Amino acid sequence: NQSLHEFDPDVAAAVDAELHRQQSTLEMIASENFAPVAVLEAQGSVLTNKYAEGYPGRRYYGGCEHVDVIEQLAIDRVKALFGAEAANVQPHSGASANAAAMAALLKPGDTILGLDLAHGGHLTHGMKINFSGKLYKVAAYHVDEHTGLVDMAEVEKLAREHRPQLVIAGWSAYPRQLDFAEFRRIADEVGAYLMVDMAHFAGLVAAGLHPSPVPYADVVTTTTHKTLGGPRGGVILSKAELAKKINSAVFPGQQGGPLEHVIAGKAVAFKAAATDEFKDRQARTLQGAKILADRLVRDDLTEVGVSVLSGGTDVHLVLVDLRDSALDGQQAEDRLHSVGITVNRNAIPNDPRPPMVTSGLRIGTPALATRGFDAEDFREVAEIIAAALKPSYDAAALRDRVTALTVKHPLYT
Ligand code: PLP
Repeated sequence: NQSLHEFDPDVAAAVDAELHRQQSTLEMIASENFAPVAVLEAQGSVLTNKYAEGYPGRRYYGGCEHVDVIEQLAIDRVKALFGAEAANVQPHSGASANAAAMAALLKPGDTILGLDLAHGGHLTHGMKINFSGKLYKVAAYHVDEHTGLVDMAEVEKLAREHRPQLVIAGWSAYPRQLDFAEFRRIADEVGAYLMVDMAHFAGLVAAGLHPSPVPYADVVTTTTHKTLGGPRGGVILSKAELAKKINSAVFPGQQGGPLEHVIAGKAVAFKAAATDEFKDRQARTLQGAKILADRLVRDDLTEVGVSVLSGGTDVHLVLVDLRDSALDGQQAEDRLHSVGITVNRNAIPNDPRPPMVTSGLRIGTPALATRGFDAEDFREVAEIIAAALKPSYDAAALRDRVTALTVKHPLYT
């Protein structure tokens, strides 16, 4: 029973180095966050040892009396948090939640209608070499070239043309809110199910700062590690009448034993998400993204070809448009990395540069809000990013300003 440091110093050293990286840089990947210590503790617990195929009260293994309590807490809490009729907390990830939800609602060869990957959709919404693109016929809608907003007229047109069995609303890179009522109307018109993948904005929904898709959708999927700030994993919410189908699509349809240590982390995260502190954090997340977007549309950046898709944001992220900039997505990502800010380059609609280079950056504020950043801190972050995206910049001075912010807001101490 040696500790990690004693038994495996190689792995321990890399874990320590990762902790130091998270502490000493500004994490602005829009899909990342910092899980509370209580979540890390649950995930690192003896629950990792337990097999529990089945569901609470109906397991295929003995000794499940304690994991039953934990999984039922996770189910009850997430239902209450989002006002959902039914919940499955077993999906190992967002991708497996989507795979199971689609398996429950569709048969291979059916048609799905989702947002194009290159326009902000997710791989699991119908990308060609993903399961979703291989198992199902795919029609993809887009954002309008001028407004940057999802083109609902195109959604309706494609729905009438392709008669999909499933319409998917949700995104990985989109700075605005979707019109769930309109998606519902279109799905009803063609007799399709509506699935909303709220992986990115679930934390905002939980805090009441973003419209909830739950009243509109047949099924809502999410991850638990993005704005929700919990352990890495997935959840499926649904109407009561679909619960049985979804449960059997997850297990035994897609998965074997559930990860009860992760489910314990989910239960803890759902408890946290019901607090006022969480709501305050989500409000600062939104405020930070707005401050950043406002800063990146000013003249000094427009002059060097930097702008913001859709002109701003209503959510936790900003999409920087570098199509007119000499700096491409890869160079911009590297430049921010060199001053201690972590973001990801992102293809943007009608991107002229290749997918490994791109003409965009996706910059998110959830992790910094979790770290305690307020409006004043986000103004400083926005100034640092604006300075770094200009043709000439002082990397060492910007790195010092980043360090000052990391010292002001210590992490995991
Ligand atoms: N759905 C959306 C909208 C996402 O953005 C992501 C992750 O990026 C996923 C699903 C997949 O989640 P995971 O990486 O946990 O499989």
